[in-house]
Amino acid sequence: MSLAYSPSKPLPLSQVAAWDIDTDVAIVGFGIAGACAAIEARQAGAAVTVFEVAAAAGGNDDGSGIRMGLSVGGAAIHMEQFFATRPFYPPGDLVKGIFVNELGQRFINEDAYHGRVTRYMIRQPNDRSWLLVDNSLFGRPVIKPDITIAAAGDTWEEVETELGLPAGELVHTVDTYNRHAAQGLDPLWHKHADYLKPLVESPFAAISYCGRDFGGNAFTLGGLSTLPTGEVLTPEGKVIAGLYAAERCACGIPRWGDGYSSGMSLGDASFFGRQAGLSAARRQA
Ligand SMILES: Cc1cc2nc3c(=O)[nH]c(=O)nc-3n(C[C@H](O)[C@H](O)[C@H](O)COP(=O)(O)OP(=O)(O)OC[C@H]3O[C@@H](n4cnc5c(N)ncnc54)[C@H](O)[C@@H]3O)c2cc1C
Repeated sequence: MSLAYSPSKPLPLSQVAAWDIDTDVAIVGFGIAGACAAIEARQAGAAVTVFEVAAAAGGNDDGSGIRMGLSVGGAAIHMEQFFATRPFYPPGDLVKGIFVNELGQRFINEDAYHGRVTRYMIRQPNDRSWLLVDNSLFGRPVIKPDITIAAAGDTWEEVETELGLPAGELVHTVDTYNRHAAQGLDPLWHKHADYLKPLVESPFAAISYCGRDFGGNAFTLGGLSTLPTGEVLTPEGKVIAGLYAAERCACGIPRWGDGYSSGMSLGDASFFGRQAGLSAARRQA
């Protein structure tokens, strides 16, 4: 490198005249996994160089790591799986509302993890769903205070009409829910009794979780196929010597969108990031 370079002095890409760096372990991306790998590899005695495109570490996870792995023969697996969320709580009282689709029917227990609920929202006809709440529960999700209130009324019939749902369906759904909730039961979806409350205090509202109103956040759970050491595998299951991947570049522990929950990524990143850094350092030793 022609410019003055030191590992502690980041160099803007525009000032890099030529790539000529000797290092034991090169880490692309200083996110959680990259940082854990770098620390572990350095502690194992390796010379470590980190390449990071952004001014601040983390985020900007755009799949380019997976594509880099594919370009040298790596296999990507479970690419159809993803995490998605339109968080509808906090406030916690919103969990006591009920979601209905455009048929006026419930489709999940609302006390499930918000990512799981969102996966079921997306599957509803035309990605249209609304959270029904009464006056005692009404609130706006903290993450989206400008959320669309799709309908409001003094009766559930008014809300149903304003949403343009088939006559009687939403009303029937709410009646059935209220009748059982009053007894602390939810025989259809088994929501926990702590979150059951008849929706009887007017005015009533339908908060929109339709895809067109609330895009939400998502990331892939698929990625490069790896061993627990972080070594990347080909489609035939052979190790690609010297190539390691972890966390969002890899298909790690969370690999099923419906079963994902918060913490699975950070655990995956810190554990397998460290494993990858250690493996890479040991290979050079
Ligand atoms: C909204 C949201 C909420 C989340 N909440 C949770 C949670 O509660 N619990 C949990 O466990 N997980 C959560 N996650 C997931 C978790 O944050 C990510 O899975 C994790 O940060 C991914 O770590 P990573 O090291 O693979 O990538 P990142 O942390 O995204 O880091 C990737 C790094 O690589 C850099 N980079 C990208 N391309 C290049 C390139 N070509 N060259 C050099 N550098 C590059 C980026 O700038 C970035 O710094 C959440 C994610 C999102 C988006």
